[in-house]
Amino acid sequence: MRVLVVEDERRLAGLLARGLREAGHAVDVRHTGSDGLLAASAGAYDSVVLDVMLPGLDGVAVCRTLRQRGNMVPVLMLTARGDVPDRVAGLDAGADDYLAKPFSFDELLARLRALHRRAGGPSSAEVRAGDLLLDPARRRVFRGEVEIDLSAREFDILALLLSRAGSA
Ligand code: CA
Repeated sequence: MRVLVVEDERRLAGLLARGLREAGHAVDVRHTGSDGLLAASAGAYDSVVLDVMLPGLDGVAVCRTLRQRGNMVPVLMLTARGDVPDRVAGLDAGADDYLAKPFSFDELLARLRALHRRAGGPSSAEVRAGDLLLDPARRRVFRGEVEIDLSAREFDILALLLSRAGSA
């Protein structure tokens, strides 16, 4: 599956990304809440691993904003150990599950699999707008037959715009 990791601690983010890739998943990493929100809003992920403690926009605010926009991507929140208010706030904001730090990587994988089963599989269909074709699963964009080379951030912005094109 495609997993978005939003975690500002670079070391932990790197470990998570490496472990998830070794488990066969496609992983993108964002280090701030606002970048994470943008990427998650692009709608191409099967699940999001979202740290609560992020600079600026925190994980709770990111999750709440996603839900307010109708984005129901499964969210696994990472909270500080024993921090009950964090967990309550996360679940109230629409997180599907939480895991307290420090956690075992095997448990993280198991919880992601459970979230994925509950959500009923991937929902990353191709999006067409005029002669543009956007493939969320492979994160590729084509104009007609020609592939357009975009940065990760540019892809997220385009995907977000296209996802809203019909609903504005
Ligand atoms: Ca953090």
